[in-house]
Amino acid sequence: MDEPAELSNIRVVVRVRPAQDKTKTEAVTCGDQLEVDCGDGKRFTGAFADILGPAATQNDVYRKVEDVVLQTTEGINACVMAYGQTGAGKTHTMLGDNDGIIPKALNALFDKLGSDEPPTPVAQTPAPRAAKVSVSLLQILGEKLEDLLSPSSEIPLRVRLASRVTDELYVSGLSSIVVDDAEAALKVVNRGLKGRRERSTKRNDASSRSHAVLRVDIEKTDDVEVVKSRLYLVDLAGSERASALEDDAEGSPSKMYNPSETQRFKEHVDINRSLSALGNVVSALSDGPTKRPHVPYRDSTLTRLLQDSLGGNTRTAIVACCVEINQCVACCAPESIYADESVSTLKFADRAQRVLARVYANRDVVPSASDATLATALKKAKDEIRR
Ligand code: ADP
Ligand code: MG
Repeated sequence: MDEPAELSNIRVVVRVRPAQDKTKTEAVTCGDQLEVDCGDGKRFTGAFADILGPAATQNDVYRKVEDVVLQTTEGINACVMAYGQTGAGKTHTMLGDNDGIIPKALNALFDKLGSDEPPTPVAQTPAPRAAKVSVSLLQILGEKLEDLLSPSSEIPLRVRLASRVTDELYVSGLSSIVVDDAEAALKVVNRGLKGRRERSTKRNDASSRSHAVLRVDIEKTDDVEVVKSRLYLVDLAGSERASALEDDAEGSPSKMYNPSETQRFKEHVDINRSLSALGNVVSALSDGPTKRPHVPYRDSTLTRLLQDSLGGNTRTAIVACCVEINQCVACCAPESIYADESVSTLKFADRAQRVLARVYANRDVVPSASDATLATALKKAKDEIRR
């Protein structure tokens, strides 16, 4: 019962966070277009459908991605990710103070699933829940995957191919927890992220150097159909460039990138490798299959895991986070590099908004459905179309 595929662009929402230091000059101007003043008379201008300036609320951002999130209840896979330099507001956007995209999406999802269920007639025992929702949470640090819901597990996580026909991937060894409502889901997520923060403090704040990936699997079953979908909510690592890190490690007084911390530096380079792999995948996809038939998904764990979210059967939204002023909140480097980071985020966002995906609903006939049930369902669908 596969539905016809629909072409869908990656939706890009640019979010510019407010300046903390109001005495600094603004470098980013939001209007119909976005302008970045890079100094020395250099300017970057980009056109985006959704530009949210510093006054935008968490609700404003969520509203831009809500339809993508809610289509998962109809069997459409979805992915929402936050991209940008460290300090640009990715974690604030995805999680915030329990008011970011993740909590809002979980609440809205369960509300929608609840309202989709037919009411149980009075005086009958309630029917078993028609929708099953489970969550998994992992981080990618360097090229390594870690299960945040089962941190002590010894089983190594690996991205594997589930089917050669559909190219479907799965993560072997990853735990997943069935949740009954948004509150339970958020509890699980917050517990996993707390563990991430605690462990990362011991490892010198690995949280900004790792990608956090929340996976929500939804399965709805009735007499006739199984409707399945997967939602990824991703808080990417800081996208600051390797060159900035290298400059920094060589001579600046910054403690963050002290060259004696070889391991941390290596992790930075690995993170950068995964983000440049992400950039290369998005570039290849935006050029299209005629110009770039090979898409280098296999160049990093991140792109392999998100393969389907980037160029497969998934409706994807990217929140590109920029800093309003000409200042980097996380690293010490020449002033101009800060605006350059916003420009590099916007160039990534611009390529991403050109990527087209072919999406369709994942619906399958329940194997045990009888011919009579199928005939009734077909008649009902036809009647609905006629109305
Ligand atoms: P990132 O995850 O990109 O490294 P954070 O989300 O941790 O950055 O943001 C850095 C700091 O800036 C945090 O203290 C966060 O609360 C604050 N912040 C980020 N975006 C906004 C915003 N839009 N409005 C207010 N504060 C913000
Ligand atoms: Mg963060």
